[in-house]
Amino acid sequence: MTTFKSLGLNASLLKAVEKLGFETPTEVQHKVIPLLLKNNTDLVALAQTGTGKTAAFGFPMLQRIDEEDRNTQGLIISPTRELCLQITNEMTTYGHGLKNLNIVAIYGGANISEQAKKIKRGAQIIVATPGRLKDMIKRKLVNIANIRYCVLDEADEMLNMGFYEDIKDILKNTPNDKDSWLFSATMPPEVNIIAKKFMHDPHEITIGTKNSSSKNIDHQYYIVSGRERYNALRAVVSLNPEIFACVFCRTKIETQKVAEKLISDGYKAAAIHGDLSQNQRDAVMQSFRKKRIQLLIATDVAARGIDVDDITHVINYQLPDEIETYTHRSGRTGRAGKLGTSIIFITKSDQRKIRQIENKLQTKLSLQEMPSPETIFGNKISHWVEQIKSTSVLSDLNAYLPKAIKGLEELDKETLIELMLSREFKAFDFNPKLNDHGSERNGRERGSKRERSERKINAPKDKDRFFINVGARDQYDWQTLKDFLRSFLNLGQDDVFQVEVMKNFSFFSTHKDHRDLVLKSFENLVMDERKVNVELTKKGKTYAPKSNFKKNRKKSR
Ligand code: AMP
Repeated sequence: MTTFKSLGLNASLLKAVEKLGFETPTEVQHKVIPLLLKNNTDLVALAQTGTGKTAAFGFPMLQRIDEEDRNTQGLIISPTRELCLQITNEMTTYGHGLKNLNIVAIYGGANISEQAKKIKRGAQIIVATPGRLKDMIKRKLVNIANIRYCVLDEADEMLNMGFYEDIKDILKNTPNDKDSWLFSATMPPEVNIIAKKFMHDPHEITIGTKNSSSKNIDHQYYIVSGRERYNALRAVVSLNPEIFACVFCRTKIETQKVAEKLISDGYKAAAIHGDLSQNQRDAVMQSFRKKRIQLLIATDVAARGIDVDDITHVINYQLPDEIETYTHRSGRTGRAGKLGTSIIFITKSDQRKIRQIENKLQTKLSLQEMPSPETIFGNKISHWVEQIKSTSVLSDLNAYLPKAIKGLEELDKETLIELMLSREFKAFDFNPKLNDHGSERNGRERGSKRERSERKINAPKDKDRFFINVGARDQYDWQTLKDFLRSFLNLGQDDVFQVEVMKNFSFFSTHKDHRDLVLKSFENLVMDERKVNVELTKKGKTYAPKSNFKKNRKKSR
């Protein structure tokens, strides 16, 4: 059996491997690590996210750099800020035993002088996004003229995002005799051009194109009409109470619509798409990572660099045009040896696409029957039973237990269970309409009829969606935040709608007519010594305050 030791890793890295609990090298690590440790070579590796590629280039780079030399020796370029930070974290963990090692992340949307300061202290390895790196090279804040190793990670994504010119410019600032290691999930012509133009006779390695999409991933599909799509999504979620999923839609509008519907139906969901600012995207991703959000509804572009392990399901609300994109999407689950499920909702007329995917992946996709309400409810009961059985007993209860036992002593076991179930599921619809698969919510989460109709107020088409930096941590729920916004803005009952409260931030909508009122009213608003920040979620329309009118509404809650 191949071990990390047999790949040639030194003691310090082997210690990191042990600490991380990696038992055996993944395929890409098995093929790449010995090659890069023993040879000065360029490399083109076709490998997807989740295959363990960060360690495949990270271990050799860490083993080969000289930690006593403070000059920059290794450069890793990645498409997104999320991925850049993820690589930096992983590399820092792997390199824990190297006491003088300094790895610095540089990326857009953050303070450039802070990043420059960190580089100035001496960074043996820089992990960067292309735009910010180019900017810092121009301003002479980084020097990559003497690097020995250069990684282009997710090269296809970088080129998709239009970074071709930036990458060309960056590479011009690096020495010719460095080792270049390019990692890409696919090999479009543009990646080939980069390989030809900037690399010398690279080794080529392909990782599991045939099986990476089938080995750990169960591919399933449901045939649904366009109208049934949303209910099908709810059914799948209801069948899997512990689901932690990424749901892919084709457009930003669809993404937002699906997320809003799920939220109004009581699910822990949020949308991520290109109309959110970087800060808003970070906040949503943070909530997803911490599992405060169970369903992340995303466009393909926004999902780039999603670095979340443990995703149990990838759901294709609609199929993408390219089969390659399907492979990318499904690669978000079934990572690092875990099992995952990739689900497609498809209309009857589009079924031929299933055959195309099967041919491409060389694997069978299984057709699923839409579950009946009885199956869904049966599943909920099993989940409830498991939850009860795995509850940890509170030791502080001991003193009060006799009182509770005495209070319930006339009830036999069956009656007690019946009562508990009735309490838990009191708001569950046992006779759902055809194709209405019941709600995920139990009685407590579902709320009163009035609350539900409040949450479902029809949004006008001409609405604006706002981000506000207060949330559950400030003791708001959707209703108290709505009440606060209405009274603060002096608006009517239905003028503020789709209030969505997360832990640290929230979203709400108003009619476009109220845009100026909303933005102006929050200008310079300070609550509890914190500046309240309200932004339009549309890209490029961030508000620039015009007046200095200062309000202090500390007591407004
Ligand atoms: P990557 O493809 O680099 O994004 O890695 C995906 C995940 O797999 C990361 O969370 C790694 O920490 C983890 N990982 C990498 N190599 C191994 C391994 N040999 N065994 C188990 N997990 C691994």
